Amino acid sequence: MKYDGIVIGGGPAGMMAAITAAQRGSRVLLLERNGRLGKKLLITGKGRCNVTNDCTAQEVLQNVPRNGRFLFSAMTAFAPEQTKAFFESRGCPLKTERGNRVFPVSDRAQSILSCLEKELNSNRVFVCGERVKRILTENGRVTGVDVGERQYSADWVTLATGGVSYPATGSTGDGYTMVQALGHTVVPPEGNLVPLECSGEDCPDMQGLSLRNVGVRLLNNRGKVLYQDFGELLFTHFGVSGPTVLSASCHLKGEGCRLVLDLKPALDEGKLDVRILRDLDTYRNRSMENALMDLLPRSMIPVVLRRLEISPNLQANALTKQKRRELVSLLKGFCLDISGKRPVAEAIITSGGIKVSEIDPKTMESKLVSGLYFAGEVIDCDAYTGGFNLQIAWATGYAAGKNASERTGNPV
Ligand SMILES: Cc1cc2nc3c(=O)[nH]c(=O)nc-3n(C[C@H](O)[C@H](O)[C@H](O)COP(=O)(O)OP(=O)(O)OC[C@H]3O[C@@H](n4cnc5c(N)ncnc54)[C@H](O)[C@@H]3O)c2cc1C
Repeated sequence: MKYDGIVIGGGPAGMMAAITAAQRGSRVLLLERNGRLGKKLLITGKGRCNVTNDCTAQEVLQNVPRNGRFLFSAMTAFAPEQTKAFFESRGCPLKTERGNRVFPVSDRAQSILSCLEKELNSNRVFVCGERVKRILTENGRVTGVDVGERQYSADWVTLATGGVSYPATGSTGDGYTMVQALGHTVVPPEGNLVPLECSGEDCPDMQGLSLRNVGVRLLNNRGKVLYQDFGELLFTHFGVSGPTVLSASCHLKGEGCRLVLDLKPALDEGKLDVRILRDLDTYRNRSMENALMDLLPRSMIPVVLRRLEISPNLQANALTKQKRRELVSLLKGFCLDISGKRPVAEAIITSGGIKVSEIDPKTMESKLVSGLYFAGEVIDCDAYTGGFNLQIAWATGYAAGKNASERTGNPV
């Protein structure tokens, strides 16, 4: 069976590559190992799909800590503006929320997937449920793919198999093995945008507690600030998670890092002290355990008192000035020692992948194998939360699809 091109992987990057090439007249076969397309796409943004970020191409690149420069060309050609226009012009209205995060108005990732499926269909992309084993080449040129029982021939192949996070969605790293067999280098994958494990009992004791407005600083073992943020954080049985933690995880370097939380970011130390004094006065005849009820979430109080070695039964009016000052300092700088990242399977995104110096950044074509293109998370670049990772998938998918279709001499 002969096609102009084959796309391996029916995630966002693969679907965009297939649509773009087919729109330009290529006869495209899309091979997806799962029975259905976009399994990971459906769980993005907690099922709502944060489809892009409403910002400029330049601003997207500022949110790509790893190999952002490589993406310059693709991102300028297909910026968030184009992503928004793509979906809105195809009957999928979008809305912008806090942090410029763009979601479908329906609040359902399915709307984004349905829009892509409709587009694949109307552009006559052949979709097949096959797991590709090998990319076939002859004299340094792509000739097709091998799925085990049969082979498909094509002039070009776009590899969009994703990374290795959330493997139940189909992204198990097949693409890495396929390209290594062709001489490409794969930067060892690790999890990014991943929850962090912390030592000690404090996090398990507060598991389930979610803080909405917390200041977060990530410090290395010499006290240097590696990252700071403000927003949501969640305590879990192993440590911490939530948007601020996931973003901080991208900056974790070496051993001995710690997170320092400002639990009362709206108050400076002086104002916080006044606030605590007021509470201690209001509840002067109560135990400390009860006197802090207005100030802190219930599950945090025993942890705070334990750290300060204050008995929960101590009467509020017996708290010393020294201990009150220590309380202020603790709430403004609550330290958590990080013992590591959670496994890559639990990460939102895979850091690592096909080495970017082996890919032409203008066309997404391999510099080693003619006719082989790459798109999406399989490439060694990744971004923060906020819709930037999907924007990378759309932009690289578009670049790969457009340039691949041009090589077969189809009209643009
Ligand atoms: C829980 C979660 C929430 C997320 N939320 C957001 C969000 O809101 N916004 C955002 O920007 N990003 C989000 N992301 C990241 C985003 O999902 C990825 O960046 C994006 O899916 C990458 O697209 P991709 O097409 O490169 O890879 P994938 O989506 O991983 O797709 C790859 C596809 O290739 C298929 N495949 C693999 N091997 C083979 C093979 N051998 N043969 C055939 N097919 C194969 C897989 O089955 C899979 O369908 C989230 C990720 C997770 C895990």
